[in-house]
Amino acid sequence: MDISVSRIVRVPILPLKIVNAHLLIGSRGCVLVDAGLPGSLPRFEKALLKQGLSFEDVQAIVITHAHVDHAGGAAELREKTHAPIVAHEDDLAYYKRETPMTFCPTGWAGRMFLRTPAPHQSYTPFEPDVLLSNCQAFDLSQYGVTGSVKHTPGHTRGSISIEVGSKDALVGDLVASGILIGGVIRTKHAIRPPFEDDPRAVAKELLRLADDGVEKFYLGHGGALTVREVRRHAETLLTFPD
Ligand SMILES: [Zn+2]
Ligand SMILES: [Zn+2]
Repeated sequence: MDISVSRIVRVPILPLKIVNAHLLIGSRGCVLVDAGLPGSLPRFEKALLKQGLSFEDVQAIVITHAHVDHAGGAAELREKTHAPIVAHEDDLAYYKRETPMTFCPTGWAGRMFLRTPAPHQSYTPFEPDVLLSNCQAFDLSQYGVTGSVKHTPGHTRGSISIEVGSKDALVGDLVASGILIGGVIRTKHAIRPPFEDDPRAVAKELLRLADDGVEKFYLGHGGALTVREVRRHAETLLTFPD
């Protein structure tokens, strides 16, 4: 691997890889990828400290999509770090909490989960400082890390992924792994997250990332996955009806 490529470090928001955020560590500090659930500041502080970093070293906060386990802690992290939030405009109404989040359950786990208060948990509304639109790619080098943010709709309309160097990608909830979400076993086995708006759109984006040369996929739940497993999963999604 090119030594100038930024390093990816997992931030455990919940144990057993049930919910992950990530640090992208570059030459001058780092970028946070996802903000975890509301109240996750101590998790980030601990992860930063382990890398010899502090909140002052955070150059930007990229939010992959508007679900509470990814965007819930964004407002408090911005207040703490004074770093700009980068997100996609197609999830803006959810970030501002103007529209209630909609969920398309992918199976019994999603349906059960929807009956609990967890996915509906509210979070402090925020307006991203950098709002991406459509397919426009956004280069993270201005924040001192190697990464290109791309629109990868499907899990939600405004979902984004980050290609880091040429072989790694942080894909949020485009795909998950393990039993239920994350979980102790089968973490190398790709599954659909509990909710997914458009499986065929997800498949298209996963295959595009694979065709781009991504070999390892870092996830919001479980992971990481090899390109071979992601391709197998995407081919299955393609068989779903429109
Ligand atoms: Zn999600
Ligand atoms: Zn999630």
